Amino acid sequence: MDTKIKAWWLGHSAFRIESPSGKVIYIDPFLSQNPMTPDDQKNPDDVDYILLTHGHEDHVGDTSDLAKKTGCKVVAQVELSHLLKKEGLRDDQRIEFNKGGTVHFDDFSVTLVNANHSSSYGGQYAGEAGGLILSFEDDICFYHMGDTNIFSDLEIYGEIYDPHVVAVPIGDHYTMGPQEAAICVDMIGTKIAVPMHYGTFPVLTGEPKEFKSFVNDYCDTEVVIPKPGEKFLG
Ligand SMILES: [Zn+2]
Repeated sequence: MDTKIKAWWLGHSAFRIESPSGKVIYIDPFLSQNPMTPDDQKNPDDVDYILLTHGHEDHVGDTSDLAKKTGCKVVAQVELSHLLKKEGLRDDQRIEFNKGGTVHFDDFSVTLVNANHSSSYGGQYAGEAGGLILSFEDDICFYHMGDTNIFSDLEIYGEIYDPHVVAVPIGDHYTMGPQEAAICVDMIGTKIAVPMHYGTFPVLTGEPKEFKSFVNDYCDTEVVIPKPGEKFLG
């Protein structure tokens, strides 16, 4: 399907998305220290929004530096947002919310949903980990699961939001591995699934090919496996 949005996977759980009107959105911008991110994508200048799933360093990544440099808005769970304020994030850049809440921007909205994981930042409590559901005006819905294992709310999210694309952690060890991830895809019922949170570090052993083969066993969702830095939508 042709989408109006454009999306790139930048390695690990980091994504760049351009909305139909051209707003630039980064999800979990772990870039400068991310061994998978191509050098020319480690330090973007054009950022309008950063969206965070939780407080761990491999997700918050370059948020503070990018926010200072670009003046972008940072959308995060309320406790994490307050920790970023202590790091210098201005109040007019901070959009804090919590689970079930939706915030609306130019031509898209973001809903914070459940993830089954932990969350801290700089050793401090950062609220609960979440997933992010992005709904674009007259276009598709993109579900970024954050870090999680399987949980039964996923079927409900599939019914409510009917996401077209889901980004799924498959690396194992700190999140679910390929088989559990594939069953999540079946529960949510998307057209496209994109594996993430694998291969960045040796301990993240889940393989995208294994994930794809499990998905093929459970449902007819198309598995798209971008290279780090590659555009996979639009
Ligand atoms: Zn992680």
